[in-house]
Amino acid sequence: MILSVFGLLGSVVLGLSAIAVIRTLALRKTPGKPGPSQDPPVIADEIVQEAALHLAQAVALRTIAHERMDETDSAPFHVLHALLRKFYPRMHGRLEIIDAGPRNLLFRWKGADESLLPALLAAHQDVVPASDADQWTFPPFSSTIESGYVWGRGSFDAKGQLIAICEAVEQLLAAGFSPERTWYIAFGCDEEIRGSAGAARMASLFTAMGIRFSFVLDEGGVVAQRFLSALDRPIAVVGIAEKGDVQLTLSCTKAGGHSSSPENPTALALIGKAAWRIESRHTVVRLTVPVRHMIRTLGVHAPFPLALVLLNLWLTKPIVMRIFSKNPAMNALIRSTCTVTMAKGSEAPNVVPTVATATVNVRILPGVSAEQMVARIGRRIADKRIVVKIEEDSRRSVASPIDSAPFAHICRAIATIFPSSIPTPYLMTGGTDALWYEQLSDCVYRFTPAMMDSGELKRMHNRDERFAIANMEKAMQFYMALIMTDRSA
Ligand SMILES: [Zn+2]
Repeated sequence: MILSVFGLLGSVVLGLSAIAVIRTLALRKTPGKPGPSQDPPVIADEIVQEAALHLAQAVALRTIAHERMDETDSAPFHVLHALLRKFYPRMHGRLEIIDAGPRNLLFRWKGADESLLPALLAAHQDVVPASDADQWTFPPFSSTIESGYVWGRGSFDAKGQLIAICEAVEQLLAAGFSPERTWYIAFGCDEEIRGSAGAARMASLFTAMGIRFSFVLDEGGVVAQRFLSALDRPIAVVGIAEKGDVQLTLSCTKAGGHSSSPENPTALALIGKAAWRIESRHTVVRLTVPVRHMIRTLGVHAPFPLALVLLNLWLTKPIVMRIFSKNPAMNALIRSTCTVTMAKGSEAPNVVPTVATATVNVRILPGVSAEQMVARIGRRIADKRIVVKIEEDSRRSVASPIDSAPFAHICRAIATIFPSSIPTPYLMTGGTDALWYEQLSDCVYRFTPAMMDSGELKRMHNRDERFAIANMEKAMQFYMALIMTDRSA
């Protein structure tokens, strides 16, 4: 009897393994290559070096967007606009400049074929502050070029991209190129504070003009090196959707008084306990469409044992989810994450607060509502003295298709400039201006044409942000290839 049970179990395991192997082999037969790539555009070295100088001068400008708009200084934005006019005379002479409100920059490059829907390239001018300036290797707002990098706040996010787009257009115009399709180029002024004066305003303008886009390409995923240790090729991750951004407030009200005769625990201690409960365990796993696409694409290109695991989620999902959970960047792809970022008690060291509060920043997966998160967090805290309130909620992103002509076109440009990389759809874990443009196109993609490893990734919104001059060349080539080879998207 025992033998027959083991025999049965053995047969089941063997049967499942055989199905997994057959399925893996079948899926790997059709890897969905982006198609024949062309030779990358050739850019003279002195042009690339000059582009790096342009970027360094743009980085020196403190185009910081503040939460309170009246605190934002417009002057550095206007100096940036003047610099761009000086650096890119053809672009400013030949393209139409559309008034899109203070600090925004919007260009229209008219194409020959008006029957084609226009496309939109986007980047942002604003940067986050650098409050730890004294700890940077080079001052964050200096024009430092050193060791093959342009250093400073905003060099990667996203002035490198902005300058690369302008350089590409200028080079194409210098070569006498004129596009088939009309291209719009939008540089928002406040992406880092959710884009309401920048991308949102320009999106409204496009709506009022009755414009729909064939596709939109904004900042986003990079060509990530050493993403998975078992994968020896870089992966070029193209965001086809992004996570939402929800601010919650936890509050607790309790008798205050003098700290010499406290009634413990205080409201702030209860907030602390609630905060710890929120962060001490992962939220539930949810495999969204972009992440399913990503796992499948990686599986098609991975070495066989890893491919077997990635291409058979029906059997291996717990293993794959465990791998993802171990790395914070990958964990953020499969879960809504909750992070306690601010807390407040009383105004003095010897005063017990009557009200204590904490802010929880939730990066929420597409398809999950803020109310669902509040209910989950409430169950996790399990303390009726803590009130959870939604302060802000972003709109939810809708995944763009990966079987569209624009996605194939972007992947072809990636294959041209980064031939060893695997173009891969994915879910952006951070927010971008692209969210505002989703209302204008079914095909909204997020990709920054630059190589980056995890060490470089840590510099984003952090000290010693930098942009490699080698990346400047790649980014310029990418945008040139994208515009030049655009036919059917
Ligand atoms: Zn950015």
